[in-house]
Amino acid sequence: MPEVKVMNVTKAFAKGKIVAVDNVSLHIRDKEYFSLLGPSGCGKTTLLRLIAGLIQPDEGEIYIGGRLVNDVPPEDRGIGFVFQTYALFPHMDVWDNVTYGPRVKAWEEDKSTRIGREMLEMVRLYERADAVPHELSGGMMQRVALARALAAGAKLLLLDEPLGALDAKIRLTLRYDLRKLVKDLELTAIHVTHDQAEATAISDRIAVMRKGRVLQVGNPQELYMNPKHIFVAHFIGESNFLEGYVSEVREKKEFVVELRQGLPLQVLGKGHKTGEKVAIAVRPEALEIKKGKVRKPNSLFGEVEGVQFEGTDIRYEIKLENGDHIVVVRPSLLMEWFSAGEKVTVGFPAEKIFVFPYPLKGLREELALE
Ligand code: ADP
Ligand code: MG
Repeated sequence: MPEVKVMNVTKAFAKGKIVAVDNVSLHIRDKEYFSLLGPSGCGKTTLLRLIAGLIQPDEGEIYIGGRLVNDVPPEDRGIGFVFQTYALFPHMDVWDNVTYGPRVKAWEEDKSTRIGREMLEMVRLYERADAVPHELSGGMMQRVALARALAAGAKLLLLDEPLGALDAKIRLTLRYDLRKLVKDLELTAIHVTHDQAEATAISDRIAVMRKGRVLQVGNPQELYMNPKHIFVAHFIGESNFLEGYVSEVREKKEFVVELRQGLPLQVLGKGHKTGEKVAIAVRPEALEIKKGKVRKPNSLFGEVEGVQFEGTDIRYEIKLENGDHIVVVRPSLLMEWFSAGEKVTVGFPAEKIFVFPYPLKGLREELALE
């Protein structure tokens, strides 16, 4: 069964100057829909190509279904591969594209025909078997590519930005098709994307990558609710980031962070020392707003500088009394409207504030997408 283990794998290019994959270890479970998520250039494609066997690691081991595959060529790894651009044979019709694998493997005619039909019915394109690729839409071509990748019997599907070239609407429907198909056929899928909404919608678990490294692995809820790395708080969902110092460590799991100009916030958690410089992150949708100045713990005064009505939500840009800027997102249905120039109080629920060591190179550098 195709569980995949990547152990301490490193791959460098340009004579070692570009470390595309930097000592990565991952365990992808059998029948799991797993995504590699991160900004462009973080090493996702390189890692996928290593798993596929299209390139070789400099260090480390890769196991597929318990078998060490470092020296196994791609065609013997039992994988199907789908790329961003529809890598179909342009002069073959849909049928010949899809049955290419079975024919190369010289399967019996009956079996090839049955598989071809099954695969095309599965992606709802059997009636287009005679079409050539350029007669199809992008979404259709990608469904053919998927059928072709699976026709040779692969149980491990590797997908590199498979929805990246499609229109927004098609991308959304194909997301669900893709996940359903992987689940119905009990495949293991490794899906590369830089789109966090796509990764969280489609995946059982996600590895968030940056600069060749895996920062955190978890299911979408875990990554959203409990980011272990400041970049994860930035890349999954949205966060406000503020800097401060730990001014007091209390008994049990509580401490106080002083923001600029000494504004105090109580925070839950442990492992921080008095005097430590920290960055806090808080989701715009975790914050509360009240009219005027309301004196309460964990409430900071501010002024609304901008309001954007976004349908379901309203987005407020707020300047806090210490000069820091934050964004607060509130559901429109709450019917609590604030306008630009209005004085407000922003509530920071202690249990929804994430605290991270202040990044050595500064916040901007740590959160940069390049
Ligand atoms: P991603 O898929 O996350 O955008 P890649 O894995 O394609 O990232 O690339 C990771 C890094 O490795 C980038 O800096 C890229 O320029 C570099 N890289 C990838 N493939 C090669 C190659 N064949 N030769 C040289 N550099 C490469
Ligand atoms: Mg890529």
